[in-house]
Order: sequence, then structure tokens, then C-alpha cells
Amino acid sequence: MKILVVNAGSSSLKYQLFDMDTNEVLAKGLCERIGIDGIVTHKRPGKDDYKSNVDFPNHKAAIECVLALLTDKEKGVIGSVDEIAAVGHRFAHGGEKLKKSSILGDQELEYLESIVGLNPLHGPPAISGLKACKEVMPSINHVGVFDTSYYSEMKEEAYIYPIPYELYEKHKIRRYGFHGTSHRYVAAKAAEMLGKADAKIITCHLGNGSSITATVNGKAVDTSMGFTPQDGVPMGTRSGAIDPTVVTFIQKAEGISADEADKLLNKESGLLGVSGISSDCRDICDAAEKGNHRAQLALKILVHNIKKIVGSYIAEMNGVDAIVFTAGIGENDRQIREDVCKNMAWLGIEIDEAFNKSCPRGETVDISAKGAKVKTFVIPTNEEYMIALDTLNLTK
Ligand code: ADP
Repeated sequence: MKILVVNAGSSSLKYQLFDMDTNEVLAKGLCERIGIDGIVTHKRPGKDDYKSNVDFPNHKAAIECVLALLTDKEKGVIGSVDEIAAVGHRFAHGGEKLKKSSILGDQELEYLESIVGLNPLHGPPAISGLKACKEVMPSINHVGVFDTSYYSEMKEEAYIYPIPYELYEKHKIRRYGFHGTSHRYVAAKAAEMLGKADAKIITCHLGNGSSITATVNGKAVDTSMGFTPQDGVPMGTRSGAIDPTVVTFIQKAEGISADEADKLLNKESGLLGVSGISSDCRDICDAAEKGNHRAQLALKILVHNIKKIVGSYIAEMNGVDAIVFTAGIGENDRQIREDVCKNMAWLGIEIDEAFNKSCPRGETVDISAKGAKVKTFVIPTNEEYMIALDTLNLTK
């Protein structure tokens, strides 16, 4: 069965076509600059990439271009669009109602449209991508997979903020959590490696956006991102958790509006804000190695905050069986992994530092020290596969 996975952003649309019988990616690619001028990049394993300028006035034109490429005699991988059994759509937010991956009918679409206020950046383009795909492929299932749904079984005390309860009732202000599809995928892999379904696992998704999630028995019990992806550990350009009063203080002290303060905390803070160099961890590591104090400080703040969250989740779960590192920084930055795991031996977390430095990239590896009570794994994430799998399961 072939499943198409679509991730629509405001001016982009990413796609991957899976053959779920062989678990292979047949083709994947990206339509960029939708509504501007348009570029498509189409990749197939073992073949040259195809890149071309195509005018996409909207998401519908972009998905039509994708389907034309997938079925093209030379560049294609399938004979006809009819071979696509279903489409899985990535949604950042499923609100409080879409608690699990779901087939998206009129009711679900109406609900998604009603919650765009919670998700103003990702919601509208994802809905527009869904509508375009439904229009072009009306006779098959369109499944929504939501980053938030992994957190739908957290206890109230983990998601209700200690602010007037009426604000939760009125505006649905609560911790939702994000990156759930990634955490679900790597936590399941870790449980499989441990051979323990009821394992206690802490997954550190450290990329441009970063979040940490605690999972017990396959269910998320807490997570560092909150009402928005702004909460938790410092990120490329996001501050992560800070004293909330800093926001109103900055507004008054700098004479800036709420929107400007929001931009400052979302786009100008985190690794970029502290280092003044870049939001990219590689640039900061290079500068830190050359002795740049603010680059060194940015990395120390990152590690300090990851440790604090990991420690708090161990307390919350009364122990941990495995720590998992994933995403751009988690999968590649050996120094950050070593620094996070340093001085955690009392908790049972110890890594094999030499193997951590030399282990292969892009593979699932166990970097725990011999005899360590807690396992430490590096597991490459694969959100698209998870979306395809949920879509398959709802379609079969
Ligand atoms: P996104 O959240 O955009 O999906 P990624 O998961 O791709 O982000 O992670 C991007 C981050 O990963 C960047 O900070 C980048 O510097 C970091 N990264 C990628 N490769 C490496 C590497 N080889 N060493 C250190 N950091 C890396």
C-alpha cells in the first residue's frame, strides 16, 4: 500500500511517498516559495535529484505538481495517482478534541478551523494544504496526525497552568506540548530496544526547535513545550522558559508592543540571542572552540536547562530506564550529549564517552557505559514514517 505524507507550511509543501509493504521511501521532495515564484525539488533513492522552477500560485498548484512528478514517465515512481491509498497530513495542533490521529472529514476540518487562534502560524497553511489535497484526491482517506495528540493523556496537574482556571475554560490556555510524533516514534524504538513496554523514557528532541518528553508505558506524562513551542529548553532563536514577568518588563523598558516582545522571544533569543552569532548550533560550537565567551555561554545555558528538565522528569516518574537523544543536535552533536550526561552517574546515567565520540551518524546506537543503570540511546527520528504508519492503520 502506498501512502503519501504531506507537511504544508505557509510557503512550502514537503512530501514523501512510502511503500508500506516494504517500508521504503519511493520519493520525497519539497515545493518552496508557494505564492511567490516556486521551486520544486524531487528526490528518488539512487537517482539524481530533480530541481525546477514551477509557478505555484497556491497549495493546490503545488500538490498538482507533486502528483505530476510522482506519476511522470521519467521522474515518477508510480503509474497512476490511483496507486496512492491515502494521504497523511502533519498538523502541529489538534487542540483538545483531536486526541489521536484521525480521518479528516467535514467535522474534523471544521474543528481544526475553529482552533487556528491557538496555532496561527502552522494551522492556516496546514488546512490549506489539506483542502488542496482533498480537492485533487477526493476519493481517498486524508488522515491528520497531530504533534499535540501524544500528550492528550497527561494528567491535569501536568497541563493546567497555575493561573485563574477561568482562563483555561475561556481560552483553552494549557500545556499542549509539541513534537509529539517524533517523541512517540523514538520512545517506541527505545522501549523496543529495552524489551520493556512499560519503560520510563526521557526523549530529548534537540533541533532548531527543542523539546523534552517523559514517557511511561508508551504514554507521555510530561513535556517541556507548553501552550506554544516557546516553552522549555532554549532553542535556535526561542528563549524557552523564562520568568514570565520578563516579558511585560521588556515591553515597558524597551517601549515595545506585545507583538514585538513575542518576536524578540521567538526569533531573536535562544542560542542566537545569547551568542549574538547564529541560531545554528554548528556555528556556535565553532565559535566556542575558538574561545568566544558568549558562544560558550549559550551552550552552557542549553546544557544546564536540559539537565534541569531531565532531572525533574526522573523525579516525576520515580526513575528512568532510558534517555534518548534525537533531531539535528541530539543526533549529531556529540559534545552536547556528553555534557548533558556528565555528573549524572548518581542517577545511573553514564555514557561511554569514547564510543559517543566515534559512533556512526544516522543510526540507532546505544552509547551507555558498560553496566550503567540507565541506557542512553541516540535514535534518528522519523516523523514522516510515523505519519505514514498511522495513516495506513486508519486506512487498512
Ligand atoms: P528542525 O527543528 O529545523 O527540524 P533539525 O532537527 O534539523 O532542526 O536541527 C537543526 C540543528 O541541528 C541546528 O542547530 C544544527 O546546527 C544542528 N546540527 C545539525 N547537524 C549537526 C552536526 N553535525 N553537529 C552539530 N549540530 C548539528
